[in-house]
Amino acid sequence: MNIILLGPPGAGKGTQARFLVEERNMIQLSTGDMLREAKESGTAMGRLVAEVMARGDLVTDEIVIGLIREKLEGDKRGGFIFDGFPRTLPQADALADLLAEKGERLDAVIEMQVDDDALVARITARSTCGNCGEVYNDQTKPWPADGSCVNCDNPQVSRRADDNEESLKQRLMEYYKKTSPLIGYYYAKGDLRTVNGLGEINEVKASIEAALT
Ligand code: AMP
Repeated sequence: MNIILLGPPGAGKGTQARFLVEERNMIQLSTGDMLREAKESGTAMGRLVAEVMARGDLVTDEIVIGLIREKLEGDKRGGFIFDGFPRTLPQADALADLLAEKGERLDAVIEMQVDDDALVARITARSTCGNCGEVYNDQTKPWPADGSCVNCDNPQVSRRADDNEESLKQRLMEYYKKTSPLIGYYYAKGDLRTVNGLGEINEVKASIEAALT
């Protein structure tokens, strides 16, 4: 099964993708994670995208489509979860072509709906494990008092460079201008399933499971 998790920054796409990886042996393809890795590795591409990401703008379609193309070459296990991709209509068309080339298809697009105030609150309270990417929230799931990640025991918590109010405004703007038209696009294709992303993590997880059956 190949699915897209679609939703604004802070909707919980990464958190839910991790459940699908554990429970369905799927492969999470997060273009945001791939770009952050490139940034850390100090490659030419990493340097190119670092500023764009810090501002909250989208990087070029060409770069992210190239990243996804490479990943689709590998093992597909229980299928792919596209997390944070596609974010523009040209990316959506490119994904359809890439999947068709592989004889694969898209099975569902899960739209995670969350209201804007909740997004701002979530993102400004968000931190992640510097090692495994486990997501924490200052209010609902604080970094453990013993100082190490619940998942991998790593002691290093980190905040994303773009999880600040200024970048967030721009990321939301990019979402509404360039990504939200994909909701209509996938609705028209008959692929869209909408879940309420505002509930508890396990409620959202159950809604996604129900949407996939
Ligand atoms: P995310 O981790 O999905 O929130 O992505 C973080 C940042 O990476 C975004 O704000 C963009 O700058 C960049 N990015 C991630 N995915 C894409 C994409 N599909 N298209 C363009 N830029 C992207």
